[in-house]
Amino acid sequence: MLPVWQTGIIREITQVTPNTRRFLIEIPGVENFEFQPGQFVTLDLPISEQRSKRWRSYSIASAPNGTNMLELVIVYMPGGAGTNFLFHSLNVGDKLTLRGPMGTLTLPKTLDKDLYFICTGTGIAPFHSMLQYIFAHNIPHQKIFMIFGTRKREDLLYPDELKALEEKMPGFTYIPVLSREDWDGRKGYVHAVYEELCAGLPPAIFMLCGWNKMVDEGVERLKAMGYHKNDIIAELYG
Ligand SMILES: Cc1cc2nc3c(=O)[nH]c(=O)nc-3n(C[C@H](O)[C@H](O)[C@H](O)COP(=O)(O)OP(=O)(O)OC[C@H]3O[C@@H](n4cnc5c(N)ncnc54)[C@H](O)[C@@H]3O)c2cc1C
Repeated sequence: MLPVWQTGIIREITQVTPNTRRFLIEIPGVENFEFQPGQFVTLDLPISEQRSKRWRSYSIASAPNGTNMLELVIVYMPGGAGTNFLFHSLNVGDKLTLRGPMGTLTLPKTLDKDLYFICTGTGIAPFHSMLQYIFAHNIPHQKIFMIFGTRKREDLLYPDELKALEEKMPGFTYIPVLSREDWDGRKGYVHAVYEELCAGLPPAIFMLCGWNKMVDEGVERLKAMGYHKNDIIAELYG
């Protein structure tokens, strides 16, 4: 059964990169908004007469923390009806209609294999939630890699937090990859990174999230390397 529609109140809007904002949303109807890291909510935005044309889904970027506050990270799509509304008509204090949690991109029951989070842009959101959760609950795990691709340094999401987490969480490696800027970090695309790291086919789970092109290509490449489809979990943004 689908969750019921609820009212959310925008509590904070922060510009985090030139085209991405973080929205903090309170859901006053519940004390504790329960969800599993990796799940999403669907917003019903006043952008069409037709209900189904008003719905836009967003991964919850925060981890479940016993409160009724959620964090979303949303990239502006030029010409996109939903993000145009979210970026240009919505202010702190405004109300939103939303439902959730939904979605099956969640952590495996046990983290007994290495875990690769592969994402671009706001596709980092569900993995940010999972990492916060694993760290906060001290969940036993093998190696965890976050391979995050974007164009330029200014587009990096949560860079300081993820760098700091590398120091605090044993076995965690953060690999930002830039496609359009020279820097002293990794350049190019996310795919070459896991292909190198996993050339010897170590047992691993791969989770991919973002726009179709990157995710579809990643799934195909992982299968071509010899990984089984059961070890590849993907969520498409569109
Ligand atoms: C489960 C789920 C979770 C999502 N989580 C997030 C999230 O956390 N953050 C976030 O920013 N977005 C997320 N999205 C995408 C989001 O739901 C919207 O599709 C997005 O915000 C565009 O909405 P819009 O109304 O502005 O654009 P629309 O008017 O819907 O038009 C945009 C259309 O173009 C396509 N499109 C737009 N940009 C690209 C691109 N760069 N590459 C390929 N196709 C593109 C989309 O498929 C979409 O159909 C998620 C989508 C799903 C299904």
